[in-house]
Amino acid sequence: MTTTAHGTAALLSIGDELTLGQTLDTNSKWIASALADLGIVTVEHVTVPDDLEAHAGTLRRLASKVDLIVSTGGLGPTADDLTRQALAEAVGEALVEDPVSMAQVRAWFTGRGREMPAINAVQALRPASAVALQNLHGTAPGLMASIGSCEVFCLPGPPGEARPMWSSCVVPRLRPPPGRTVRTRVLHTFGIGESDLATRLGGLMARDRSPLLGTTASGGVVSCRLRYEGPLSREEADALMETAAREVRARAGEFVFGEGDVTLPDAVLGLAQAAGQTVGVVESCTGGMLGQMLTDPAGASTVFMGGLVTYSNGMKTALAGVEAAILAEGGPGAVSEEAAAAMARGGLARLGVDHCLAVTGIAGPGGGSAGKPVGTVWIALASRGRDVDARRFRMSGARGAVRDWACKAALAMLRQRLAGVGPVKLLRQEHP
Ligand code: AMP
Ligand code: MG
Repeated sequence: MTTTAHGTAALLSIGDELTLGQTLDTNSKWIASALADLGIVTVEHVTVPDDLEAHAGTLRRLASKVDLIVSTGGLGPTADDLTRQALAEAVGEALVEDPVSMAQVRAWFTGRGREMPAINAVQALRPASAVALQNLHGTAPGLMASIGSCEVFCLPGPPGEARPMWSSCVVPRLRPPPGRTVRTRVLHTFGIGESDLATRLGGLMARDRSPLLGTTASGGVVSCRLRYEGPLSREEADALMETAAREVRARAGEFVFGEGDVTLPDAVLGLAQAAGQTVGVVESCTGGMLGQMLTDPAGASTVFMGGLVTYSNGMKTALAGVEAAILAEGGPGAVSEEAAAAMARGGLARLGVDHCLAVTGIAGPGGGSAGKPVGTVWIALASRGRDVDARRFRMSGARGAVRDWACKAALAMLRQRLAGVGPVKLLRQEHP
């Protein structure tokens, strides 16, 4: 084993299911972020299929470039699990049986009242100079080896096995470079476009700034990533990051709903919970999706009381008490300010909540008209003792995108009210 610091790292994900797009590579996400927290910079992410040549060739190429490789996958017992062979080829050694691994794999089965299938014996193989890493959550032992001056850790693919092995076997063996700190933070916004956010951030996004700021957009959420890499201590770097984060909030704070792993529903539930207030929903075009989003976070029950799915006009009247005249021929119709407001007010009274969101719109692809094109969505928020906040949006994209955006816009409206920052006009809001 070498003893130089792990200054740079590369991540290698292995499996046909990844290159074919059947499974999303989630391992690289948390491993890269864990490395960054330790001050080790990941310079490359590579995904290869279950192919010996590609795998071994990639190991050799990466080993000549970085100090540390962390791979996941390919450690199963079947013919397509080639990590052991690929590592042996890259190291230039033969595979030998590791007696301790063999005993552990066997014990995994006997502990469950089964006999070890013969094919699992290959999982105890390792390149002669490699060290096996015990797997307490599955049969596949991990491997640790050196290719020249590069240290390689091979972990099993399933996240439930890779994560514990990472913590117990890899982290204690990492050698972050002294005198270099890497810190990252992510602030999430909703309701402002990426270009508008970038315009507001202005010079903060200059490429020579430290911390470096970047933006990414996904499903309407535009995130601002902050990253510090340099000689400052962790505390000094965090203070610098805090100053930058404050500056971001000063320039776009009304759209910032949270940081890190916080989702829009998390943010809304957190604010409502802190205020001791309850929430209900009345949904038409979103058919329950808003209720689903509000129940995604654990602990939602202290805030979210329930919802009405009033898809037909009849149900809007029967369940939410929307006056039939609003929905009747010649009236404003089911997709109108009047209908949305009546749904929200009806839900507020009938569900007995402090805040009720109502969504009604035309998700498409059919059903649009000149006056109410596909993507038209009315969202209303009724709160005890407050005026109803009703807004018309024009969502873009296919049916799924319209419905997803409608739910998020509704959550953003409620967040504004709970955070006391509204009403602030949201992206795609047409009226008022
Ligand atoms: P393995 O047998 O070690 O190749 O691992 C196979 C299983 O682990 C697959 O069924 C995947 O579901 C999961 N897996 C492998 N690689 C990844 C990855 N990079 N991210 C998330 N899951 C993965
Ligand atoms: Mg595999």
